[in-house]
Amino acid sequence: MTYHAADDRYAKAQFRRAGTSGLDFPALSFGLWQKFGTDHPYEKNRATVLRAFDLGITHFDNADRYGPPHRAAQQFFGRVLRQDLAPYRDELILTTKAGNPIGASPYLKGGSRKSLLGSLDHSLRDLGTDYVDIFYSHSPDPTTPLEETVGALVSAVQQGKTLYVGISNYPTDRAHEAAQLLRRAGVPLLVHQPRYSLFDRRPEENGLLDLAAADGFGLVVYSPLAQGLLTGKYLDGIPAGARAENSAFLSPDAIDDDYRRRASALNKIAEARGQSLAQLALQWVLRRPEVTSAIVGASSAEQLEHNVQALSFAPLTAEELALIDEALT
Ligand code: NDP
Repeated sequence: MTYHAADDRYAKAQFRRAGTSGLDFPALSFGLWQKFGTDHPYEKNRATVLRAFDLGITHFDNADRYGPPHRAAQQFFGRVLRQDLAPYRDELILTTKAGNPIGASPYLKGGSRKSLLGSLDHSLRDLGTDYVDIFYSHSPDPTTPLEETVGALVSAVQQGKTLYVGISNYPTDRAHEAAQLLRRAGVPLLVHQPRYSLFDRRPEENGLLDLAAADGFGLVVYSPLAQGLLTGKYLDGIPAGARAENSAFLSPDAIDDDYRRRASALNKIAEARGQSLAQLALQWVLRRPEVTSAIVGASSAEQLEHNVQALSFAPLTAEELALIDEALT
């Protein structure tokens, strides 16, 4: 069936500016890391992506690595773009990342110019688009001079293959260095993509939040639900089909007594606010102005609809934030 985007898709959507740039992101973004490979049904995943766009989610986060197999998530998205979203390309922020290993070849990993620009060309073909909006260095590569990695990002902009550039998983000092090099090259760093959630507060502790404000870049944070641990789904065991059941990235061992104690305490705070644990967790990361957007994953359109509701609750109060800190000890 021909897809027409919902006319009211921007009626309730909330947008936030990335650092000192001119680009706005939806408060919640959608990522295709897991369950968007060839092992999941195309039509179900297509429906989830289109529902996201209908809900005002304009930013879709992808990478050469996402699948399985590697590259499959971008090929999937390329198909949806061709079939449904092409008329809306100007309304989409599409990203890709390169540098994490996707094969045995030395040119299919790392931060070299060869690896990054080769991957970008391949990703553009997979996505079926002339340009992405953001091209990321997926992880720092200590074996490659930062000048070379940054130079490849700058070239990607100069070649018109990306509009903006980002970095991901960079430690604070390396992020600062990259931001300085990029600014000098006239291509300011748009965003850094770190992991940040109630269960991983490192960006507060390692100075990354402060650096983002000082250097003028935004933070687009990933796994804000700790891969699903910050939803109510694991409070009574591991439900069939949940990520902890069958993913290499979330071990069932994470669901232990300590987890249950902390998640239950957080769940009580959420209940007192009339919301779910997932909604509380999303509001919590978005309480910081340095956080431009939280990238959520979802294995169904229903999960996404539920998560987007987080944006309609009143902000967390100082008292609630103190209770949350206590629950995490
Ligand atoms: P989340 O922490 O949002 O976890 C998403 C998963 O939680 C879903 O796939 C689903 O898993 C479960 N879930 C979500 N909502 C609900 C709900 N309402 N009720 C029950 N379960 C729910 O994010 P991800 O870890 O998926 O990461 C998000 C994105 O961030 C990725 O797709 C990717 O784009 C990016 N990312 C970037 C990285 C990087 O190195 N730069 C690394 C990792 C992620 P299920 O139903 O399968 O249990």
